[in-house]
Amino acid sequence: MGGESIITLSEKQDWRDIVHRCFRCGYCKFTLEYSDFNCPSYKKYQFETYSTGGRLWLIYGIISGEIQWNEGIANVIYACPTCGNCTENCRFEKFNDFLVDIIEVARAEAVKNGFCPEKQKALLKRTENTEYYNPYGEKNSDNTELKKKYNLPGKAEWVYFIGCTSNYRQQNLRDATLRFLKKAKIDFTLIDEHCCCSPIIRTGQIKPVNDFINYNVAQIKNAGATKIITSCAGCYRTIKKDWLKFGADYDFEVFHTVELVKQLLDEDRLKIKSEYKNTVTYHDPCHLGRHVGMYEIPREVHNKIPGIKLVEMRRNRENAWCCGAGGGVKIGYPEWSVEVSQERLIEAKETGASVISSICPFCRTNLSDANEKYNMGFEVIDLIEFLDQLDIEIN
Ligand code: SF4
Ligand code: SF4
Repeated sequence: MGGESIITLSEKQDWRDIVHRCFRCGYCKFTLEYSDFNCPSYKKYQFETYSTGGRLWLIYGIISGEIQWNEGIANVIYACPTCGNCTENCRFEKFNDFLVDIIEVARAEAVKNGFCPEKQKALLKRTENTEYYNPYGEKNSDNTELKKKYNLPGKAEWVYFIGCTSNYRQQNLRDATLRFLKKAKIDFTLIDEHCCCSPIIRTGQIKPVNDFINYNVAQIKNAGATKIITSCAGCYRTIKKDWLKFGADYDFEVFHTVELVKQLLDEDRLKIKSEYKNTVTYHDPCHLGRHVGMYEIPREVHNKIPGIKLVEMRRNRENAWCCGAGGGVKIGYPEWSVEVSQERLIEAKETGASVISSICPFCRTNLSDANEKYNMGFEVIDLIEFLDQLDIEIN
């Protein structure tokens, strides 16, 4: 994916020209084998309008004024985890980069017209609340306690951007990251961060996004940092791509933790001394896979863990099946969201793996929810948690 920002296109009105380029060939409804659906939304609803082409046709109707917004239309536009699978399967190459952008712009139009679904509205309400600044409605942690606990400086070369899911729902992943960065002797600190805005961008609730970005960028600059690191696929994609789309003024480098791990392994500075004797399958987070194109680094890191047997699911890399949590689906359609994850776990079972790993706290949350709900018997773990369990030495 990539290309010019649809936000900019929207301002130039060009996205309206782009939408009609979908010629409704229907290719986006099928996998490459023609035997399995690739769009979680179409698979669930089995109705043309929920396929990518159908959704675009609906959007075309709205922007041409032929049909008016209503609740039903808004529900179709929001019943999509913005997984990006359609961008890989649409054969119309000059246009497929924009498919998810178009859906997000349509959502922004729904919000403008007063048709954002109620459940998704909660994301904005909580994020804007000055007690929270996060979509979970948890009291904002300014991270002072963590800074004290890990003896972190006021200013540093790196900022670890924890992200709301790790800070309020997956604290083990957060703590594993903190311990790893300390062991690696990275000169890093934390900021009093506010949400990166991924949930509100994905659901079209973009009004306060610039304020949030400016606040976070100022905090990072005040910390004297030139590098940002995060263990969250959603924060990574949002900081690296969306903040720039929204005109953020920053020149720091953005890393996912897995990139640092890979660098340390390549430089022979990280030595993994213990074994992890398990069969593991790796789930590509959509935010890091299709939306950013990072497929091999996490696999290379897994394969460096002594004893591990890494096996691939049938649908992997650009064809990976989504965990079902993104794009506001987890909050908007909680039952369906976990069903999508269950399908991923059934696929993982076929590999013979007992462990499913990923590098995103949101994937970890939804895969764990499905694992528990459907009693699938997996260990669901994040790569940084693996490393935390192992005997490692970093020079
Ligand atoms: S989105 Fe692409 S693959 Fe799907 S119907 Fe339109 S042109 Fe065809
Ligand atoms: S982003 Fe995913 S769920 Fe949404 S239309 Fe594309 S393939 Fe379907």
